[in-house]
Amino acid sequence: MSIKEIPNRIRIRSTQDIRHYLKSYPFKGLTDFFMEYESRNRLLPKTEVYKRMQSTLIVMKESIAKGKAKVNRTPSGLINGGCHTFLNNMPNTIHLMGEWFNTVIANTLAVSELNACMGRIVATPTAGACGVMPGAFLTICDKFSIPEDKQIQSLFIAGGMGELIQINASLSGSQHGCQAEVGSASAITASAIVALFEVSLDKIENAAALAMSNLLGLVCDPVAGLVEFPCVHRNIVGSVNAIACAQMALAGLTSPIPFDEVVSAMKQIGDDLPASLKETSRGGLAITPTGLRIQRKVRDEDPEKAY
Ligand code: SF4
Repeated sequence: MSIKEIPNRIRIRSTQDIRHYLKSYPFKGLTDFFMEYESRNRLLPKTEVYKRMQSTLIVMKESIAKGKAKVNRTPSGLINGGCHTFLNNMPNTIHLMGEWFNTVIANTLAVSELNACMGRIVATPTAGACGVMPGAFLTICDKFSIPEDKQIQSLFIAGGMGELIQINASLSGSQHGCQAEVGSASAITASAIVALFEVSLDKIENAAALAMSNLLGLVCDPVAGLVEFPCVHRNIVGSVNAIACAQMALAGLTSPIPFDEVVSAMKQIGDDLPASLKETSRGGLAITPTGLRIQRKVRDEDPEKAY
């Protein structure tokens, strides 16, 4: 096939489209493809999209530090210094999976709690799921001393995979349940982690497919309509899942169902979910006796702690 000039607008609907572009146009690889995608579709020079991604990375790193620096509490009491307690109790607690695993949990908690307290975070891809990418991806970057440039490049790949989810399904809990928020966050984080070590579309796709498959069906049932519980704790599941799936893909395990089809399945499941499980707080954990008690207290603006 002859190599053509890269078109002004790049359109993708599937990983097959990406493969087609990579084969037909002179991209320097997958990272270059996603950077060109951003640049051409946003009508910004590549240097500018790179700079913006660099700023995003800095904010993400700051959100971990800020989330850990204070005791995060919300008026509902659902966020009640969890990260602080976790870190303080660690020296006297058994370490089930080693110290590094605890850092993944602490970093995810820090960012998710900061979000609940209205701190500055990066929506990756949403505010509700903002702890997954910093908690898993940045902790791995730190562990392996990954250079900043490589981190930024991998974020472009995460962004590209997120774009496919957004185009074919959604990233919104109110549209498709928590599978679309934490599930998508986990999938794009898994893809970014793989890209740190191997920029292979096959492996990136497999990691994302496995990560999203594991969280299919996850409903959105926030207690009292607040992005606090179960949101913060689900972010940790998203982080751990992302790392496990990235590890499996790097070791050559594959998803029997391709990423594009997993995304279609997510959309179909999300469309079938009742409205009560799509961020309305009319189902699931939100309507348990305790969930309703907390909701009543929050809505009545009871000055006492609800939880
Ligand atoms: S439960 Fe709903 S509000 Fe909470 S993180 Fe998931 S999708 Fe977002």
